[in-house]
Amino acid sequence: MTTVEAPASHLLENPFEIAQRQLQLVADVFGISDDLVKVLGQCKKALSVSIPTRMDDGSVEVFQGYRVTHNIARGPSKGGIRYHPDVTLDEVKALAMWMTWKCALMGIPFGGAKGGVICDPKRLSRSELERMTRRFTSEIINEIGPERDIPAPDVGTDASVMAWIFDTFSMNKGHSVLGVVTGKPIMIGGSLGREEATARGALYCIRQAVQKRGEQLDGMTAAVQGFGNVGLHLSRFLVEDGAKVIAASDSVGGIYNPDRIDVSAAIAHKQETGALAGLRGTEEITNEELLLLDVDLLAPCALEQVITGENADKVRAKIVCEGANGPLTPAADEILEDKGVLILPDVLANAGGVVVSYFEWVQGLQEYFWKEDEVNAKLNDITTRAFNETWVTRESKQTTMRFASYGLAVQRVAEATTTRGLYP
Ligand code: NAD
Repeated sequence: MTTVEAPASHLLENPFEIAQRQLQLVADVFGISDDLVKVLGQCKKALSVSIPTRMDDGSVEVFQGYRVTHNIARGPSKGGIRYHPDVTLDEVKALAMWMTWKCALMGIPFGGAKGGVICDPKRLSRSELERMTRRFTSEIINEIGPERDIPAPDVGTDASVMAWIFDTFSMNKGHSVLGVVTGKPIMIGGSLGREEATARGALYCIRQAVQKRGEQLDGMTAAVQGFGNVGLHLSRFLVEDGAKVIAASDSVGGIYNPDRIDVSAAIAHKQETGALAGLRGTEEITNEELLLLDVDLLAPCALEQVITGENADKVRAKIVCEGANGPLTPAADEILEDKGVLILPDVLANAGGVVVSYFEWVQGLQEYFWKEDEVNAKLNDITTRAFNETWVTRESKQTTMRFASYGLAVQRVAEATTTRGLYP
């Protein structure tokens, strides 16, 4: 029997400490009391489980998994499950806290949670992935449920993984429980528009931002880091709106063409070969170089802490849209703000996924499913409202988009916590 150890992490700073520091700074600007900061600065519950899994060769590997609930003052907790070699408990805690703020900012009745398993899903066969997922689900089965905590996809997980979680939970309950998980395949209760929802929400924010600046997306240049669920669809949508995607990347590396990349060809190439590298008509570029390109719009859509105090002063983009969670460190935030870069923060820019997850949960509970146009129109309403509230707050408080969005969210969670009162 072997135990799978986490390799050296991509995380340069402890993400939970960053999230706690952000909360304190926001509390100072918005006058949130120290007692509330003490409550909101911690996670309600953190479960750590070991996941023994039979491998295809007959051996057993033991993976480490986490499910963390940050806060449930505004409703059941909601958050994705990440499969990645660098997952740590503190990363999952930070992501859970950001989920609380994201749901509150969007005005949907959920608290925040997150889960993760230390593994490299690319090195597991499909049947190993299924066995590992089903065992992980069994280990956290008492924590999740439609009224308790509702997982969804994140880095390294997709609709198939959600289907296995749904099936394992339902088998144990003896009946299908549609609301236990979102991001399910359409034929078993998923929502139309969920797969593209995070990117669509990001697009709606970018459109608002561009309009507020009196500019046009048509003809703008963009670089997108990460070509998975968020980055791939965002690249596609940007092109549909007339923007020129001149660079894109995945974990292997990036591709670049100063005129424009043929995004449809890039999607086909990635599907065929598993990577973007080698796409005809493009040059190779590193992930680091991509971040520093002279573009109108930069969208980091992969992992945390890619723009830091080390490289932020070399970023030349005018707008940075955080498709990923936490791609900018606080030091990077400060440098970019000083340079006049407009930052569309993660809790706003990538909230489309959780909004349509909310729609999927509602549809599942009602067993009544909506048309895709209806889903997208409702997503646009919610995202645009949140964007405008953030924009107005940024101006009234003379602060940044990050602090305005976190501030609005933290205020809402603080209000719910105070209204409910401290038990007992
Ligand atoms: P994904 O697994 O579908 O795609 C991740 C992409 O990032 C892949 O193309 C991968 O090759 C690339 N990548 C991995 N490591 C990289 C590295 N070191 N440098 C460059 N690229 C790298 O994941 P996703 O669902 O698209 O999530 C991406 C980010 O968006 C994460 O931060 C996630 O938390 C956030 N997010 C996702 C959703 C969602 O609905 N999927 C919702 C909100 C936020």
